[in-house]
Amino acid sequence: MTTVAAIIKPTADAPFEVGTIERRAPRANDVVIDVHYAGICHSDIHQAREEWGKAIFPMVPGHEIAGIVTEVGDAVTKHQVGDRVGIGCFVDSCRECENCLAGEDQFCLKGNVATYNGREYDGEPTYGGYSKQIVADENYVLSIPEGIELDVAAPLLCAGITTYSPLKHWGAGPGKQVAIVGMGGLGHMGVKIAHALGAEVTVLSQTTSKEEDGKRFGADHYYATGEEGTLKSLRGRFDLIINTVSADLDIDAYLSTLKLNGSMVFVGLPENTQQFRVFSLVGGRRSLAGSNIGGIRETQEMLDFCAEHGIGSQIELIGADEVEGAYDRVVRSDVRYRFVIDTATIG
Ligand code: NAP
Ligand code: ZN
Ligand code: ZN
Repeated sequence: MTTVAAIIKPTADAPFEVGTIERRAPRANDVVIDVHYAGICHSDIHQAREEWGKAIFPMVPGHEIAGIVTEVGDAVTKHQVGDRVGIGCFVDSCRECENCLAGEDQFCLKGNVATYNGREYDGEPTYGGYSKQIVADENYVLSIPEGIELDVAAPLLCAGITTYSPLKHWGAGPGKQVAIVGMGGLGHMGVKIAHALGAEVTVLSQTTSKEEDGKRFGADHYYATGEEGTLKSLRGRFDLIINTVSADLDIDAYLSTLKLNGSMVFVGLPENTQQFRVFSLVGGRRSLAGSNIGGIRETQEMLDFCAEHGIGSQIELIGADEVEGAYDRVVRSDVRYRFVIDTATIG
């Protein structure tokens, strides 16, 4: 075991503090990674504050991890010491269920092992990327291509893949009208990726305060949903809506902006049960769907795509003592557009 400095949440109500955790000695298939940067996802906040139900404490959040390999186990073939690598939302899966075999290991039927607030299959709790080092099986470690700096690459490991996967699955591309609801961490990546895929991209934000940024990220259109009549004026417009909002929305109003056969896909995860009228679907053969991160294979594909298109996250780099304040700003929709922790500031 190795003792590692980390940013720790002792309980749901207690503030973060810097302390130490133990990392396992590398096994034959393990890679030891010096974490350089860790993104702050809104899911970290939901879990650290126990908004999704009971969580495991002490907690070290962080599933947008970028760093450098410092040691490899005897049987490792995919990564070498010195490689630029990343870890996303899970660090293991059963590898034998039909979804794992299909490369959809994010939907492992046994349940994959979450990077933090989870348990390894042997029962040991997992600790995430707000720490100086992590040890993981090589098959769940991604290669970060040259051409993307590690700090702006970190958020791709969750925000990037969570938007890339549904955009690809629902066919975003040339000739398609794609709306991204909410321009935060996920949303701004959705705009960049949908634009790079060739779709015509519309941002539906609460206000137009971030319009200039949205257009710079690749949006063709930008509307404020807080203004009376916005969604009515967009009736029948979109092939695909990616909803990144974690608050309750008037789903019927959004469904009415879909074309015939259009789909509204949830990636945002509100605590509350959501409601919609079946008539809103039936009237246009529309679909309401959800999507969860992406598989390991697709995450690598996304990283390669982002490198090819010069896409990184737009980040604010922060120190270990700024995490609480950053959480509050994310909750206030005051993030531009992903906070990333510089792990050199821990301990
Ligand atoms: P974020 O950075 O906070 O972005 C969410 C955006 O939603 C905000 O920036 C804001 O955009 C909009 N918003 C916030 N409150 C709103 C309200 N009351 N009404 C309407 N819009 C509102 O969060 P994130 O990290 O992108 O994560 C978003 C959600 O996705 C979270 O629930 C997270 O847990 C979930 N998530 C899911 C997956 C998955 O695999 N499905 C993966 C990662 C995260 P505007 O200011 O532009 O309105
Ligand atoms: Zn996330
Ligand atoms: Zn499986």
